[in-house]
Amino acid sequence: MATATEGGSSGHVADISWQSPTVAYNRRSMSGFEEVNHYFRKAARIMDLSPRVERMLVTPFREVKVDVSITLDSGELGTFIGYRVQHDRSRGPMKGGLRYHPTVDMDEALGLASLMTWKTAVVNLPYGGAKGGISVDPATLTPRELERLTRRFVQQIHDIIGPQTDIPAPDLNTNAQVMAWIMDEYSRMHGFSPAVVTGKPVDLFGSRGREEATGRGVVFALEEYLKDAGQGEVRGKRFAVQGFGNVGSWACRFLHERGGRVVAVADAGGGVQAPDGLDIPKLIEHARTGRRVAGFPGADAITNEALLVLDVDVLIPAALGGVITESNARDVRARLVVEAANAPTTPRADEILAERGVTVLPDIFVNAGGVTVSYFEWAQNIQQFTWEAERVEAELQRHMREAYATLARVARERKVDLRTAAFIVAIGRVGRATVLRGV
Ligand code: GLU
Repeated sequence: MATATEGGSSGHVADISWQSPTVAYNRRSMSGFEEVNHYFRKAARIMDLSPRVERMLVTPFREVKVDVSITLDSGELGTFIGYRVQHDRSRGPMKGGLRYHPTVDMDEALGLASLMTWKTAVVNLPYGGAKGGISVDPATLTPRELERLTRRFVQQIHDIIGPQTDIPAPDLNTNAQVMAWIMDEYSRMHGFSPAVVTGKPVDLFGSRGREEATGRGVVFALEEYLKDAGQGEVRGKRFAVQGFGNVGSWACRFLHERGGRVVAVADAGGGVQAPDGLDIPKLIEHARTGRRVAGFPGADAITNEALLVLDVDVLIPAALGGVITESNARDVRARLVVEAANAPTTPRADEILAERGVTVLPDIFVNAGGVTVSYFEWAQNIQQFTWEAERVEAELQRHMREAYATLARVARERKVDLRTAAFIVAIGRVGRATVLRGV
C-alpha cells in the first residue's frame, strides 16, 4: 500500500525503486478534489468569504489530459494517459509535482493541484498550485521505457509548462533522474531552461538539500509544534511511520538523529516493528538496495493497517492519501498525527480524530519543505548562483518556523484546529492576490 511521497534518487532508496500499489483500504466517500474543497469551505465560512471570491478560488485555471503512448522495448504499443492540472496562478507561476501511479486521474490531480495552491500560500512562496502525472505502474516499465514515457509527456505539455508558468517537481514514484529528462527534453524545444523543473540532480542544476527537504521539513514542523504545545522534544518519543520512500526514510533519519524512537515503519510490501526503536541507518541501507522493509532482519512484522493504530506518541503517514478513514480513525492511538503525505486523512476521519482530542498537523504545512526547497532551487537557477547546504537548511527552517507561528496565532485567535488555520491563512493570501488582480 504505502509508497513514497516523492521517489528516491541518489540517497536513501534505490535509484529506480518503483513500488506497486495496493489500494485495499483506500476507502473514500468523497473525491480528492471534494475533500480539499470541504476543508476550503470550512475555512471560507469562518472567514466570511464572499461567494464571488469563493468561486474564483475553487475554479481550476486549466485541466489537461494527454495521450502519452510509447513503443515498449518489445515493440508493442504501450498506451498511457498523462494529466496536468493548473489550479491557481494569482500568486505566481504554478508549482507542483508529477506522480507516476495507477491511481492518477483528473480528480486526483485536481485535488492535489488545489492542495499545492494552499500549501505554497501557507509557506508564503511566490507560486500558485499545479499537479499531474501519468496513470502507470512504473514497476512494469524498464528504465528506457520510463525515459521515453517522460520525454513523450514533456512533448505533450511543453507549451503549458515553463519557468514562469508551471514548474513540475518530483512526487510519488518520480525522482531526480525523471526531472533531468524533463529539463533536457524541454530545453531541446525551448533552449536551455534549468528552471523549468525542480528536484533535479545536484550535478544538473539541482539544489543541495532538495532530496531530503520534505523529510527535514516534516521534522522542523513537528519540533515547532512540540515547542509551542509544551510537549518537549523529539528525543524519547515513539513514532510509527507509514512509507519509506524519499519522505518517510528521510523523516525517519532526522527523527533518529534527534533521539526519537521509530518503532514501526512500513512500505508497500508491509512493515517492521521493534518496541525499543528500529535501527534506522541499517534500515535505510537495507532499502537502498531496492529491498522492501518487510524483510529487514531482527525486527517483527507489522501490517500497514496495524501500524496506523499502533500505540505510539506520533503517527506519521508519509505515503499515499486516504489512509486514515472513517473505518480506522477511532482506533488511532497516537495523540498526534503528522501528515507527511498529501491528503492522508479523509474529512470524516479528521472530524473523528478531533472529537477524540487527537491533534493533526496538516499536510499543507507539514510537507511544505519539499516545495520550499524547490523554490530555493528555482531561485538559484534563475540567478545562476548556488547555495551551500547550510544556507538551504537554515532558510528552510526559517520558512517552517514563520509558517507555524502564523498558523498557531490564527488557530488561537479563531479558536480553530491547525488545518482550518492553515486554510484561513492560505485563502487570505490567495484571495487578496486574486481580488487585487481582478478577473
Ligand atoms: N511533490 C511535492 C509536494 O507535494 C513537491 C512539489 C514541488 O516541489 O513543487 O509538495
